[in-house]
Amino acid sequence: MRLCRFNDNRLGLVEGEDVFDVTAALSVLPALHWPVPLGDALITHLDKIIPAVRDAKAGAEKFKLSDLHLLSPIANPSKIPAAPVNYLAHEAEAAADPATFHGQQVAKIQNVGLFLKSCSSLVGASDGVEIAHPERRTDHEIELACIIGKPARNVSRADALTYVAGYAIGLDMTIRGIEERSLRKSLDSFTVLGPYFVTADEIGDPAGLDMLITVNGETRQHANTRDLVIDVPGLIEMASRFYTLLPGDIIMTGTPDGVAPVKPGDEMVCTIDKIGEMRVKVYQA
Ligand code: MN
Repeated sequence: MRLCRFNDNRLGLVEGEDVFDVTAALSVLPALHWPVPLGDALITHLDKIIPAVRDAKAGAEKFKLSDLHLLSPIANPSKIPAAPVNYLAHEAEAAADPATFHGQQVAKIQNVGLFLKSCSSLVGASDGVEIAHPERRTDHEIELACIIGKPARNVSRADALTYVAGYAIGLDMTIRGIEERSLRKSLDSFTVLGPYFVTADEIGDPAGLDMLITVNGETRQHANTRDLVIDVPGLIEMASRFYTLLPGDIIMTGTPDGVAPVKPGDEMVCTIDKIGEMRVKVYQA
């Protein structure tokens, strides 16, 4: 199943280019009172949402996907863990250009582990990416985003994929520089997720997915998730040894080589096998 959040927080069932407004399905979610539980309510209750979405499709208003304002399909993650330098070819390009990539941070993921991006950086495809520091280099990083489906603590890699609710295309936007990664990658709009959420059963094995990003039609990054240094099960195993992953947590699995700057007016088109295409515009406030 493919679910999007669109316009004024409507819930959409995506079938090809069609989107059915199944917002009525959200009535199965429990009422929330302060303090609200951490984690995304839609993903926490996905087992109830999926049949409710199927029921709500009958008689639902239908739209074209390309006509909608797409928000992040995950509204309330508790955290966004992200993998640094998780493709060998990206490690090589970073090591070869210390002026841009600042050598002290080009370390092996096996040594440095994961970092966290701010939840307030999360936007959807139609929101676009804001260039807040035009005097500095802001790069695109296309990544497979893995959405956790149930609490995961000390999970083995053998069991890891049973904790995955689904996947989406992610953009880990980054200002190059010497500050901590968590700061340079946490600006408003610097985590793009979309165009919708795809349940794990539609993806199967997350290894072997081709990914491509073009900017204004020019190919920038083209790679395959089979070349991840630490694969999706390995990332879940690693992360869950340090903290409990919660439903709706978004693991940004790392970017391949070809990272390059964007400027206001650019359009990024991101494609990942079995998910689809996400178009994202770059603007200056
Ligand atoms: Mn990244």
